[in-house]
Amino acid sequence: MEQQDYIQIAEENLIHTYNRYPIVLERGEGVYLYDVSGKKYLDFGAGIAVFALGYQNKAYNDAVKAQVDRLIHTSNLYYHVPLAEAAQKVVKASQMDRVFFTNSGTEAIEGAIKLARKYAYLKENRTDHEIIAMQHSFHGRSLGALSVTGNVKYQEPFKPLIGGVKFAEFNRLESVLEQITEKTCAIILEPIQGEGGIYPADLEFLQGLREVCDQRDILLIFDEIQCGMGRTGSMFAWQQYGVKPDIITMAKALGCGIPVGAFAAVERVAKALVPGDHGTTYGGNPLACAAVSKVLDLFEELHLVEHVRENSAYLEAGLDRLVEKYDSVKARRGRGFMQGLELTIPVGDIILKALDLGLILISAGSNVIRFVPPLVITKENIDEMLSILQKAIESVL
Ligand SMILES: *Cc1c(COP(=O)(O)O)cnc(C)c1O
Repeated sequence: MEQQDYIQIAEENLIHTYNRYPIVLERGEGVYLYDVSGKKYLDFGAGIAVFALGYQNKAYNDAVKAQVDRLIHTSNLYYHVPLAEAAQKVVKASQMDRVFFTNSGTEAIEGAIKLARKYAYLKENRTDHEIIAMQHSFHGRSLGALSVTGNVKYQEPFKPLIGGVKFAEFNRLESVLEQITEKTCAIILEPIQGEGGIYPADLEFLQGLREVCDQRDILLIFDEIQCGMGRTGSMFAWQQYGVKPDIITMAKALGCGIPVGAFAAVERVAKALVPGDHGTTYGGNPLACAAVSKVLDLFEELHLVEHVRENSAYLEAGLDRLVEKYDSVKARRGRGFMQGLELTIPVGDIILKALDLGLILISAGSNVIRFVPPLVITKENIDEMLSILQKAIESVL
C-alpha cells in the first residue's frame, strides 16, 4: 500500500478532529523521522514537545521493553517497584513533596483543580470557590481543563463548562488582582504559554502572583506540561524564575512517548486529598512508571538540562537572524528549546513547504512557528533546520 492509501483508510475511519499533515510516519532514529515511503525528516516538533531523548535511545527502549516482559499493569490497589522509584524521582526533580500519576496532561489538570478545590473546601467548608486562569492559555480538552483554557473557540460548543472560572490577562498583575475575591482558591497558568503562541511570563508577574497567593492563601498552580522537563534550560521552568508553585502539572516529555502525566504538590496542599477523593485505573502503572523512572535517570546521565542551556543561545541567534532578514518574520520569543517565531502572515504554507523539504515544524496559533525539538539536538541539527526553514520562508514570499 502507498502512503495515500493509509491516509484514506485513516480518514474513512477516524472521527475528524485533526487536519493531519499528509505523511504517514513509520520509524524514528535520533532526531530524524521516516515516513512509509522512506523519506527522512529532521524533527523539530518531537511529537509536540514529547520525545526529549530523541528516537531509539537504547537505554530507554530497553527499560520499556524489559518492563513489558515483567509486568505492564497492576491497578492502583497495589504497590509496585517502578511506582516507588518514579514517585521519588519526580518529587526530587520538581522539588514538590508528593505526586499523583495520570495518563495525560489534561488529567493532570483535572487532578490539580480537584486538589485546589478540596484544599479550599477543608479550610472554609464552602463549595463556591473560584479559579483564576489566563487568557490565551491552554490546559487540555477534558471539561475541567477546557474550563480553564482561555480560548473561546475551543470552549463555546461544549458549554456549560465547570463554574467558578474567571480569566485574567497574562503578564498583567493588575488584571489578576482585579479578579481576586474571598472565593478565589487558585490561580492557574503556564510559566511559558505554549499553544497560545510561546509567551514567557515576566519575572515580576510571577513574583507578584506568588506574593498575593501567600497573603491570601490562594494556591498557585503552574502548568508545566509543555515547558517542564528540561525544555527551557532547567528541569522545570519555575526553577529559573525562582517562583515556586504550590501545585505543578507535568506530562508530555515525562514519559517520552509512553502516555503519562502527573500533578505534584507541596505537603501542606497534597495532604488535602485522601483515599476516595481521586483515582485512576491506569495512571502510574508499571509500564508508565518504568518509562518515567528511566527518563529521569537519562536526563541526569546525558546532562540534558545543561545541554539545553549550552545550545539554546545558538538556536536563538539563528532565529533572530531570520527576524532581521525577513520583513514578514516579526519576532522571536521563548526560553531554551521552547521557541516561537511570530510572522506577519499565516505559517501553514511555510510548515507544509518545510515538510516537503524534510523538516517537521509545528505551529502555535496561526502566525507562530513553534520550535520544540528533541532536547538532544546539536548545533549541526540547528543549522540544518535553519537552512531548510529559510528555503521554506522564501518559497512563500
Ligand atoms: C499539551 C498540554 C496540555 C494537555 O496535555 P494532553 O496530554 O494533550 O492532555 C495541557 N497543558 C499544556 C501547557 C500543554 O501544552
